Amino acid sequence: MRVEFLGGVRTVTGSATLLEKDSFKWLVDCGMFQGGEELEKRNWKTQPYQARALSFVLLTHAHIDHSGLIPKLVKEGFRGNVICTPATLDLCELMLQDSGHIQEMEAEWQNRKGKRAGKGEATPLYTAKDAEKSLQYFQPVRYDEIVPLADGLRVRFRDAGHILGSAIIEIWVEEEGQERKLIFSGDLGNVNQPIVRDPSIVEEGDVLWLESTYGDRLHRSREETVQELLKIVREAIAHQAKVVIPAFAVERTQDIIYTLGQSIRSGALPPIPVYIDSPLAISATEIFKKNSDCFDRETQEILSGGENPLDIPGIIYTRTTEESKAINEDSRPGVIVSASGMCDSGRIKHHLKHHLWREGSHIVIIGYQAEGTVGRRIVDGAKTVRLFGEEIAVKAHIHTLGGFSAHADQKGLLDWVSHLRNPRLEIFVNHGEEKISVELNRLVSERFHLKTTVPQWREKRILFSEAEKEIPQREVEEERLPEEPLSVLLNRLDRTYKRLRRKLKREKKKGADVSRLGRQLEEAQQKLEALEKEID
Ligand SMILES: [Zn+2]
Ligand SMILES: [Zn+2]
Repeated sequence: MRVEFLGGVRTVTGSATLLEKDSFKWLVDCGMFQGGEELEKRNWKTQPYQARALSFVLLTHAHIDHSGLIPKLVKEGFRGNVICTPATLDLCELMLQDSGHIQEMEAEWQNRKGKRAGKGEATPLYTAKDAEKSLQYFQPVRYDEIVPLADGLRVRFRDAGHILGSAIIEIWVEEEGQERKLIFSGDLGNVNQPIVRDPSIVEEGDVLWLESTYGDRLHRSREETVQELLKIVREAIAHQAKVVIPAFAVERTQDIIYTLGQSIRSGALPPIPVYIDSPLAISATEIFKKNSDCFDRETQEILSGGENPLDIPGIIYTRTTEESKAINEDSRPGVIVSASGMCDSGRIKHHLKHHLWREGSHIVIIGYQAEGTVGRRIVDGAKTVRLFGEEIAVKAHIHTLGGFSAHADQKGLLDWVSHLRNPRLEIFVNHGEEKISVELNRLVSERFHLKTTVPQWREKRILFSEAEKEIPQREVEEERLPEEPLSVLLNRLDRTYKRLRRKLKREKKKGADVSRLGRQLEEAQQKLEALEKEID
């Protein structure tokens, strides 16, 4: 079978791998590149496949660096299924539409700038509407269930313990009469992370794609990290100051809510205002509450004890811009959690503008800050950063707390690999900045004596072939479309129907006149009935 590395190699974003076996072509992840203009240009590049010739996309989790180009893929003609866990689908519904809005805003901004420079019209990569349309192709599958996708091709999603719904993907393929197994680690979680379970152990496999985000360092323990956060918050309370935490809307925000909630409930912290200032994070928290079957044992226990682990006494959710602005008029000490996690977009930029220059304020960095982002410059000790066209001095206390990471550290990654028993296992180290991937690659090869490489972007490989053949030039893409099984079509019909009902209900609630749609609904109904008769 053929493999082509399309993203998430020698960088943390844009995760995507093209796989090809017999007449089947599919992707594992279809992520967006983020962090700097040069890298982001890749989002626009023509791909080495035709979108409509792909049979499916296997999606590890909802983060945009793994899912962000799916709406573009659908816009370009992809009609297969995006297979993921139910919680990933729920989160994608939220995050892809949000991403569509960001793309639209970006194009608008480019256009305003471009007009002044006499440039042509910029179009968004995709719109919120495109994102919404792409959702009908999603097909949820449960954790640990073996799903046949085609003859000699089966997959299973295992819990990766990274964010809600995140998965390690196992793929069994039959090659020349022999069964082989591929494993995609996806983003691997940290052990003892609250809310989500620990990553599943995998023992068998022939080829592994291994993430390496934190492959060069060790996190401090969870306990130490929590103590450090509490110390910072207590200090802020003593000095009537605020703690600003840039956090990814999904998982990091809920982790902070959980941690502060536990501390306030246990009396380790006095009740203080905790602002969750990110509409996306607020909606994501709702999705967490809905998917409580994904929670780990401790969180389940809190739930069954009648407490909500995602509620804090004194929590203030701010959805509107006015509410968001009001936060900075509140002179009480408190904690502001806002997105984006890498300080590049969203409301966090306003809070940083308000607090970075204040000596008493605390900025707590808890997530990964990619090269080229505002967050990375702050972590790297910049004296000033540019926000909204203004140079802002960095005078606040800057803290970096790695122990809240949703990613396994070096030890976590090596421990996880150590369970794999095949002495002939081949590893591709991906999802890491170049020097970090190279470092983990060296460690893995030294410790386990396995064949391991850090692939190049757009590198092609042939797997399971004894002869190291020259890779033939890719023939002109065939026009044949993949055949869609009935189950796929029915699934799509179901989803369209449910969406339509939801929309109609919403419109009716708003008091809109939906009667004009009556005639069309009747026609659709007649068509379905005619189809039904044909089968009889
Ligand atoms: Zn992730
Ligand atoms: Zn990732």
